[in-house]
Formats: sequence, C-alpha cells, structure tokens
Amino acid sequence: MITPIDRGVAKPFHTDNAVYCLARSEMDRASERERRLRRYQRRMARQQKGSNRRKRTIVSIAKLHTKNANVRNNFWHQATRSVVDNAQIVVIENLKLKNMTRRAKPKVCDITGKYLKNGARAKTGLNRVILGTSLGTSETMLEYKMRSAGKPFFKVSPHHTSQECADCGYTHPENRATQSDFLCQKCGHRDNADHNAALVIRKRAIKLILHSGTELAGAHNNVLQPGTDANPCKTESGNSRLRCGLSVKKDGGLTASRSPVL
Ligand SMILES: [Zn+2]
Repeated sequence: MITPIDRGVAKPFHTDNAVYCLARSEMDRASERERRLRRYQRRMARQQKGSNRRKRTIVSIAKLHTKNANVRNNFWHQATRSVVDNAQIVVIENLKLKNMTRRAKPKVCDITGKYLKNGARAKTGLNRVILGTSLGTSETMLEYKMRSAGKPFFKVSPHHTSQECADCGYTHPENRATQSDFLCQKCGHRDNADHNAALVIRKRAIKLILHSGTELAGAHNNVLQPGTDANPCKTESGNSRLRCGLSVKKDGGLTASRSPVL
C-alpha cells in the first residue's frame, strides 16, 4: 500500500493510519527548556562582556540548545524509521519549506501610506515551531532511509491538500471547518483534517502513477508530475509499473511485477 504523510506544525507526521508527534512529557520538558533559555539570555544581556559569570551563562545556553537538537533528531530518527519499516511506497507533499518560514511582507495602506497589520506575529510563532520541528530534516531522513531500504519515495503537488475532499474531490476553503475538522460542503464527508489531507495526498499519487505519462521531475527531488504521455508504461491489465518492480492497482494496492519499467 502507498503510505501518504501529511506534514504540519501541530502534528509533524500524520499518515493514513498513524500520528507521530512528541510525547506530552517531552513537550513539557521542551517548553521548560525554552523558559530557561529565555532566562539565561536575559541574564547574559546584563552580564559584563568577557566576565567569568557570563562565560558560565553562555555554556548553560549552549547545553540547552544541544539538548533541544538531540531531542529533535532523536524524534525524527524514530518517526522516519517507523514509517519506512511499515511502508512499501511513501508519498509526501512537495512543500517549499523556505516559503513557509519566510517573514511576512510588510503591508502598506494605499491611501494613508501607513503600515497595516500583516500577521507577522502569527507567522513568527509559526516560524519558530516549524524550525523547531524541523520538517526539512525529516524529509532528508525519510528520503535516505527509503533509498537504503530500496523503497520508492515520491512527492506530489501540495496545492489545497487541506481543502480538498478525499471522497468527492470538492475543493473549498470552507471544507476546513476548524483547524482539526474537515467537513465537505458538497458531499458531507467528515474526517480529521490531517487524515483527510493524507488521503488526498495518496489519491494524487495513485492518479499520477496510473497516468502513463507521469514523469519524475529532476533526478534528485522525486516529484511526480503529469507528463506528455509519450512513453506509456502500463501493464496489460491497466495497472502501472514502478522502477522498483511493484505494480500499483487503482485502489492503491501493490503487486509485484516481473519486469520493472518507468
Ligand atoms: Zn466531498
């Protein structure tokens, strides 16, 4: 089966049947460390440059940063290992993490020329959390672990995955009733929003894999894109074959095929 992963700020990994996030106790300890970090940073600002007390504060700050990085790395190694071991094919969204972490542009009023609210504060908070959960690291780990396991790893277009109904395909911002609930305004399909997004990601991947013209954009980034259909590689039964020698069926199931193509 194809395992889709919806990646987000609140829940770093949400597959079709599992959620990966830091344990509650781990979160509590992390926020306690944040509190101590801020206190040490305030203390350092007051201390005289070059003094021994200041040096001690700097060491304490560095230790906290190292601890945070270890917790983060540890979490991603365990989460990606579990996903890779349990999946045959993994699909994620082709997110532009740089865009998501970029600072909000200043907004200027056309008439008065004054600066307006641009949501910078909200975005700053999001930045911290994204950088804190380090989605980029997770992607790198996922990719090399899948590669060394000899399993295919693909990315699909991320557009409106959170607004599209996994049942009927209807796409609208109002489908996202709240941050965590999805309610289709057309067919009434109701689901957890991240679970629905994961199913949409899988649906997109299956559609592209079954589309005989699908191309991998670039050798290194594994992005599935609809191609020109010039090089069809369907099997007689209408299923599509992947390079790894697995056949993808229309319901997303996999069968082994003898002569791998694509
Ligand atoms: Zn629907």
